[in-house]
Amino acid sequence: MRLVLLGPPGAGKGTLAALLKESLKLVHISTGDMFREEIRNKTQLGCGAKLYIDKGELVPDEIVIQMIEQQLTNNSAVGHGGYMLDGFPRTCKQAEDLDRILERIQQPLDYALYMTATLPIIVQRLGGRRVCRKCGALFHIRNKPPLKENVCDNCGGEIYKRADDNEATIHTRMNVYVNNTQPVKDYYKNQGKLKELDGDKESDEVQAILMKMFRDK
Ligand code: ADP
Ligand code: ZN
Repeated sequence: MRLVLLGPPGAGKGTLAALLKESLKLVHISTGDMFREEIRNKTQLGCGAKLYIDKGELVPDEIVIQMIEQQLTNNSAVGHGGYMLDGFPRTCKQAEDLDRILERIQQPLDYALYMTATLPIIVQRLGGRRVCRKCGALFHIRNKPPLKENVCDNCGGEIYKRADDNEATIHTRMNVYVNNTQPVKDYYKNQGKLKELDGDKESDEVQAILMKMFRDK
């Protein structure tokens, strides 16, 4: 199964991705994670992208599309059990280009899962979000603190707060989302591929809904 995950930052796409990975064994492809990896390795791509990411703006379409195209055509794991794209597409241009790439490799998308969430929940989630530097596991200072402070429960890696999870940048990311990414939802709705999930719900509830959704797939 091939999916894209849509929704505002903080709606719970990361948690949704973890659920899908566990239950459907889908490969998780996150453009945000890919950029953070490039930045860590101080590559040219990473240094270019960082200028935008630190401000909460979108990295230009050409850069993102090139990166995704390479991943989809070169990663052998991608062709087998299926995958989910997380954080991509974020503009209609990206959605159109993605369709073109997938048409060429004859791997059309099955669904676009759209997570909604209300603004107060989003702000509360992103402000308290912490991430494992090593395995990417997600934590929250109040809702899901690690057992040991600043240490990942999964792998013992260091837990940190993303530089772009601060109030000013969260605000910019929400504006960017409404202006650029909201229309992508209609793009998939028009294709009859959209499925909506309520991101205000707790993760076990979302999981139950997901399982029902994909039971016979
Ligand atoms: P979020 O937690 O907001 O979903 P991500 O980890 O997906 O954030 O992405 C972090 C940042 O990386 C974004 O704010 C943006 O600057 C950049 N980015 C990620 N994916 C894309 C994309 N598809 N197009 C443009 N920029 C992107
Ligand atoms: Zn970890």
